[in-house]
Amino acid sequence: LWKNCLDHIEQKILPENFNTWFTPLYPCAKNENTLTLVVPNRFFERCLRENYLELIQETLEYFANKKLEVCFQVNGISSGIETPFNGNGNGNGNGHPPVSAPSEARMETPASSPHVEVGESSRTESFLNPKYTFDRFVIGPNNQFAHAACQAVAQKPAYTYNPLFLYGAVGLGKTHLLHAIGNQISNQNPNLRVRYISAERFTVDLIESIKRDKMAAFRERYRPLDVLLVDDIQFIAGKERTQEEFFYTFNSLYEYHKQIVVSSDRYPKDMKNIEERLRSRFESGLIADIMPPDLETKMAILYKKADFHEKEISQDVAMFLANNIKSNIRELEGILLRVIAYSSFTRRDIDLELAKEVLKDFTVDKNKNFSIANIQKTVAQYFSIRVSDLKSKKRSRDISIPRQIAMYICREYTQASLPEIGRQFGGKDHTTVIFSHRKISSLVKENNEMTGSIQQILNILES
Ligand code: ADP
Ligand code: MG
Repeated sequence: LWKNCLDHIEQKILPENFNTWFTPLYPCAKNENTLTLVVPNRFFERCLRENYLELIQETLEYFANKKLEVCFQVNGISSGIETPFNGNGNGNGNGHPPVSAPSEARMETPASSPHVEVGESSRTESFLNPKYTFDRFVIGPNNQFAHAACQAVAQKPAYTYNPLFLYGAVGLGKTHLLHAIGNQISNQNPNLRVRYISAERFTVDLIESIKRDKMAAFRERYRPLDVLLVDDIQFIAGKERTQEEFFYTFNSLYEYHKQIVVSSDRYPKDMKNIEERLRSRFESGLIADIMPPDLETKMAILYKKADFHEKEISQDVAMFLANNIKSNIRELEGILLRVIAYSSFTRRDIDLELAKEVLKDFTVDKNKNFSIANIQKTVAQYFSIRVSDLKSKKRSRDISIPRQIAMYICREYTQASLPEIGRQFGGKDHTTVIFSHRKISSLVKENNEMTGSIQQILNILES
């Protein structure tokens, strides 16, 4: 359906507009009345809504023969549960932080457990995103090793490194590499059954199957695979039943000499709340890490992405952007899209001046939301308490935990000094801020319910 729409829209608008606004889009979910499209960022979404929403709606209506509502999901932000669509969308192809997902416990309540279609049709679905290929991946010293390991696996699945464990921080290309492996294997050998799945989706799938008494079908979906690519495996930490089932899946594939690749934002040894036997399985293969990119790699990525959008950016623009975005490549990509969009709107060339304006907006947006006052307000609202409680000396858990979380976010996401943060929390000592920050940091590493809360608060702050 979406493919048809795209073909149609391509005929209707200028190629350069099509490239800017439609090539980055892809569908991630569809149900009876709505189609969800993934957009790179909110700015992009706003522009798209303003300029093309009608066209999209009309075209969809034409091809679907009925009215469909269009939803947008920002790349990496939404925590919604996606269902497959047309075989080219995928559950969690853009690696949103797994911590933003509802916890297992919460998923079991009917209200928040969306029905995931896991019937016949998905049996052959690979959930691979065709956009993530090796030739679109820029190699630098930071990811050379991981890239080589992935290529080896893609060329000879189950012959070299099995399992392959990809480790790297958020936004550094883990999801991209998993899909690239899958895409290459599928292209070279269409008979092999390849499947990409996020650990989150695996969990939801499992819970649904248990609830509907369809465990046999669940196992049947994984057992015949030749290649299983599991993204963000750290998500299953603390979830016993999921781990047990994953262990079973892992073993049955492994015994039959099938390839398994998993990604994670931490090393196996740093994964808490994970069964020892699983950890040792992960450690039994090859562990390849991806480090943050250096300046040259960031610039090379910018050139490549710009080229993909049929734009050219000069060295000073690339240098400027690369210097100002620390390490997250998703963010780097986001800022580049903003630059491209801004230049197409204002009909100005992409030069340093324009890049500076866009970046200023970007940082102002960020800083505005991440002021201490706004963090306090958002945290207080999230926990249904008052800002004055956060600033008070109350020590009950329902106040002290939100207070520590708020301090933690202030420390991590603003430039404010420790004494300044303390002052804004009703005149507390800077050691209190240090203590809170340490405490929450260590809890965050455990990936429990609190991590989910913090992630949701950050999502609110970022929106
Ligand atoms: P992760 O899963 O590690 O959080 P992703 O794989 O989702 O990160 O990468 C974030 C974005 O950055 C994606 O759009 C991806 O295509 C892009 N990206 C990451 N690394 C590279 C790279 N080396 N070359 C080109 N694009 C990259
Ligand atoms: Mg990812």
